[in-house]
Amino acid sequence: MSKHQPLRPDVGQVVRLADFDPDYTGDFTDKDEAKDQLDENRDRLQDLQEVLYAEHKHALLIVFQAMDAGGKDSTIRHVMEGVNPQGVVVSNFKVPTEEERDHDFLWRIHRRTPRKGMIGIFNRSHYEDVLVVRVNELVPPDVWGARYDHINNFERLLADSGVTILKFFLHISKAEQKERFLDRLERPDKHWKFSRGDLPVREKWDQYMAAFEEAITRCNTEYAPWFIVPANKKWYRNLVVSNAIVDALEKLDMRYPEPEPDLDQIVIPD
Ligand code: ADP
Repeated sequence: MSKHQPLRPDVGQVVRLADFDPDYTGDFTDKDEAKDQLDENRDRLQDLQEVLYAEHKHALLIVFQAMDAGGKDSTIRHVMEGVNPQGVVVSNFKVPTEEERDHDFLWRIHRRTPRKGMIGIFNRSHYEDVLVVRVNELVPPDVWGARYDHINNFERLLADSGVTILKFFLHISKAEQKERFLDRLERPDKHWKFSRGDLPVREKWDQYMAAFEEAITRCNTEYAPWFIVPANKKWYRNLVVSNAIVDALEKLDMRYPEPEPDLDQIVIPD
């Protein structure tokens, strides 16, 4: 059994990703052992989503960030399987449009945050503005440097407005990324996922790791925690994410709304 590794760094802890093993699988040794728990979580999540929707009091925002081939899409697919699609909105954030660039960096993000009763999933997020933007020097350092505080204030506003926030960094190793890129090149059904543009990003791996470390260190708060998900093993990654989502929703102690009075008196006419 491997040494215990926290999935959530402490608030204020300076994060060094080299201390987090992407191959870590906790107490589990293989996929089959984790399967029951994942199935149980799926059932639980279906119920929790229904009461979240019915109660209409809270919202859940789930943020996914990762290097290319880190597994964002597949985690979303696996973890949310069986959840009522009407209650979930997935938003992808790509290179900003001209209109988006003409606003502050949180403008496009804020309008995609989940309303009460909903689960919002961000596939990439406002963190791109301190990751790709920082690494590629798309804006000057004083501009991206001010964004950590902006992000914390923004997430505080959401939390104060009833949004539970969970942020997942899917942590794969550079070697695992290579394997996954090779797989995309070898399998015709995965060719569409391969992009030459991912290679220059891979070349800057260390700079990205530094950018992730600073983002996770500076924006890891009680009200919007970061999870560093060991993601080389897909089954463990899915389990960690689904555990965290179920735990967070359970803590909300949600209830179905009170029914209208005297329902037993109602007669449905023929
Ligand atoms: P994905 O890799 O998430 O499946 P794409 O291949 O379309 O989707 O990649 C989206 C691209 O948009 C990524 O290269 C990402 O770094 C970039 N991007 C997202 N947000 C920003 C931003 N704020 N500024 C610059 N580039 C961004």
